[in-house]
Amino acid sequence: MEMTFQPMFKKRPFIIAGPCSAETEEQVLETARGLAPQGIDLFRAGIWKPRTRPGEFEGVGTIGLGWLKKVKEETGLKVTTEVANTQHVFEALKYGIDVLWLGARTTVNPFSVQEVADALKGVDIPVLVKNPVNPDLKLWIGAIERIYKAGITRIAAIHRGFSHHSPTSYRNVPRWEIAIELKRIFPDLEMLVDNSHICGRRDTLLEVAQKALDLNYDGIMTEVHPNPDAAWSDAAQQITPMQFQELVAKLHIRQATYDSSYLPTLEHLRHEIDELDDELLTLLQSRMKFSEQIGEYKKRNNIAILQPDRWGEILERGVAKGKAKNLTEDFVYSLFKAIHEESINTQSRVMEANEIVKEE
Ligand code: PEP
Ligand code: MN
Repeated sequence: MEMTFQPMFKKRPFIIAGPCSAETEEQVLETARGLAPQGIDLFRAGIWKPRTRPGEFEGVGTIGLGWLKKVKEETGLKVTTEVANTQHVFEALKYGIDVLWLGARTTVNPFSVQEVADALKGVDIPVLVKNPVNPDLKLWIGAIERIYKAGITRIAAIHRGFSHHSPTSYRNVPRWEIAIELKRIFPDLEMLVDNSHICGRRDTLLEVAQKALDLNYDGIMTEVHPNPDAAWSDAAQQITPMQFQELVAKLHIRQATYDSSYLPTLEHLRHEIDELDDELLTLLQSRMKFSEQIGEYKKRNNIAILQPDRWGEILERGVAKGKAKNLTEDFVYSLFKAIHEESINTQSRVMEANEIVKEE
């Protein structure tokens, strides 16, 4: 579907900050008072919180919209909150919320997105669309299309990373290539990074924000709380207004290359390669965890490590699959040989020093 977006962000980087959740009037106002003098562009706070599991704090609800109204009156900041259904949209509009956002757990569900889109028909308000929780570019595009079809043209995307099950240092793995592909398809769609939900921790927030800016993103959305450790949601990733100020001060703003249309510059390509290399290492780590389990199993059942048939099978399978992916036999052979060796070493460590080292 052809879409033309109206630019929404007047300055680069565009900065959205504020607590994960509105908790109390005092907490919301205190955060806003800490952020307003920094010249942020938009104040965020979650009023209705879509939590993965029941029993967690699910947001204060409509009463919090009044607190956001106070933020506007007192500080002049524009405000944004997450909406996930018709009632949220109507309430938010009633209280003069300036910008709405769709959360990752909403983008993933076309029924919910359509409900929000229907509620927005005839309303002229900017909408930020977070990526879906799963790495599915089509769902992300579909959500943007549904909002666009409701007549909204001030739309921007927020990249907040994707769920995963292998061990990584991210809360949600970035998979930068997905956001970059979205930008390639829709060059005039503005893109922000939500470094808080990608990182899930404080010490990597700067690194991820910087990387996004280096990839030509238009800005950041970061969770800020006056007392992060005591936050009712996402405590581990929130930072104080002061820490946020330091983070922004450290950001290196490089000039957009060419016409900011994400040309595959050397730098971008290198970023992608680094990211994939990180994923490869994570996969290898998971691979060795299984070797460890196999080692434990063999030890319990008194089975030798070396099983030549199995090794032959692994190799044959790898070479055949590699060929289909245009990887040479030589390359796949040496790669698997190295993995296999490490796997044997892992298993023999499990088996303890006095066992005879054989194979998987
Ligand atoms: C949030 O912004 O606090 C939030 C719930 O984010 P996400 O939808 O990205 O999980
Ligand atoms: Mn949050």
